[in-house]
Parts: sequence; structure tokens; C-alpha cells
Amino acid sequence: MIKDNNNKKPRVAIYDFTDCEGCEVKIVSLREKLLLLEKKVDIVNWRLGQERFESGPYDITIIEGTPITDYEIKLLKDLRENSKILIALGACAALAGIPAIMPEKDRKIWYEKIYSSQYHPKGVDALPLSAYVQVDFSIHGCPVDEDEIIRAIEDLLSGKTPRYHDYSVCFECKQAGNPCRITEENKPCLGPITQGGCKAICISGGSPCYGCFGIREEANIPALIKILEKITDKNEVERYLTMFHSRSKEINDHK
Ligand code: SF4
Ligand code: SF4
Ligand code: SF4
Repeated sequence: MIKDNNNKKPRVAIYDFTDCEGCEVKIVSLREKLLLLEKKVDIVNWRLGQERFESGPYDITIIEGTPITDYEIKLLKDLRENSKILIALGACAALAGIPAIMPEKDRKIWYEKIYSSQYHPKGVDALPLSAYVQVDFSIHGCPVDEDEIIRAIEDLLSGKTPRYHDYSVCFECKQAGNPCRITEENKPCLGPITQGGCKAICISGGSPCYGCFGIREEANIPALIKILEKITDKNEVERYLTMFHSRSKEINDHK
């Protein structure tokens, strides 16, 4: 997907908008693998990781976080114009995720409690990057998985279009040998409709899947909602579906 660049290494930029920066920390934690990657790409702009801030155009721009100010939205559009490939890094960028959890009416209450009534918020609703620009690929997760970062970039460097795994979190959950929360423990879980790639880390650690890897193509969402509503009440099901997906069209179409 990355065309020949006169034998120069592809220019990569890593930007972040509103978020916790946990996904960029995952890039840092690639350690030796990051050094190997830097032999193949030239990271020319990365505020969190280095003191080098070259302007575009870029071959690959990786963006973490959700744009919630006019400045961030304009920067996102400029980056899109100046990037051959634009990648959303993590659930905040790909889904709006955690920044979108709170509905606007509740936000006003919390602004007042935390910052007082004098505070004039500048932010707009948290939306995924794809609400503003075309996104070429999303590296999912909250936070992302290190292997998935490498996999996507290696694919791009070898001229392939990165692809999602052809399985759900349930597949990895079974590989990990976990008992099924839904069928064996009568507890909720979004694994059946969630894109695989995280190695079922939450279930292996005793927590449910809340779907941070995004909705799998052709997932049977109504069937899972029906099953979840037999296990627990509607409010709890809603809590599961809005942890990362309050802005996901696929989910909202079925509620
Ligand atoms: S996806 Fe999660 S870990 Fe990554 S920046 Fe957003 S909140 Fe942080
Ligand atoms: S626990 Fe969740 S992820 Fe694991 S198999 Fe059951 S539904 Fe799927
Ligand atoms: S188990 Fe679900 S919530 Fe946990 S990392 Fe995987 S996709 Fe995300």
C-alpha cells in the first residue's frame, strides 16, 4: 500500500488528540521491536516519543485519541490531506471510546461539580476520527496490542492492505482455555461480536469483554443482545454496549 519513495524510508508521524496516551505508551513499550521498526521507517514527528517535529507530507500518519476541539478537528483534516495512509490508533480514535461515554446532559453536571459554574467548555461531542475524515485502517484496543501495531505497519511496508483477523474474541478465549462467561457462568460478555486480536486478555484476567477491539464484520448483534437480556437487566446491557460503543452505528442501529 506504500509505494516506492525513491528508496527513502517511509516518513511516519504519530499524533495524539484528547485521550490518556496509553496507546502511545504501548508503542514505546515495543522497545527492541521499535528500534527494529525504526530501521524500516523514519519517525519524523512524534511529540510523546522524541524531539523531532517535521511537518508533512507523511507516508503514514498514526493518530491516537478523539478530536474534541476546533483546533484538533482542523489538525485532523490537515493531516488527512497531507498523509498517504491514515491510521486510527486505539479505541478513542477508532470508536470515540472512553471519551464518548458520558452523554452531553451529564457532562454539564460534572463540569459544574469539578470546575464550577464559571467554566465555559470548549469541547464538542467525542466522535471517532472517521466522523471527520477517511480512515485507512484502525489498530483497535484500549489500549492497543503491541503485536497488532507491528502487524499493521509490516503489512503496509510490504505493500499489503492491513486486514482484521477473521475471528472474534471468543476464538482467542477458547484458545486460552477460559470457561465461557455466557454459556457456563451466565454472565454478560461482548466477545461474540468483538473483533479478535487482543488474545482475550480481559476474560483470561477474570473480566468481561466490553468490545474495545471494535465490532466484527457480520456480527450478529441482535442475537447477542437477546441473550444478554436474558442474563441481566436492560440497564446493565446498555452499560456494556456503551462502554466503547456509544458512537458505533452498528450498535445504535440495534438498540
Ligand atoms: S484507547 Fe484507551 S488506552 Fe488508548 S488512548 Fe484511548 S483511553 Fe487511552
Ligand atoms: S467468555 Fe466471552 S469471549 Fe469467552 S467464549 Fe464466552 S462469550 Fe466468548
Ligand atoms: S477482551 Fe474485549 S475489552 Fe478486553 S481487550 Fe479484548 S476486545 Fe478489549
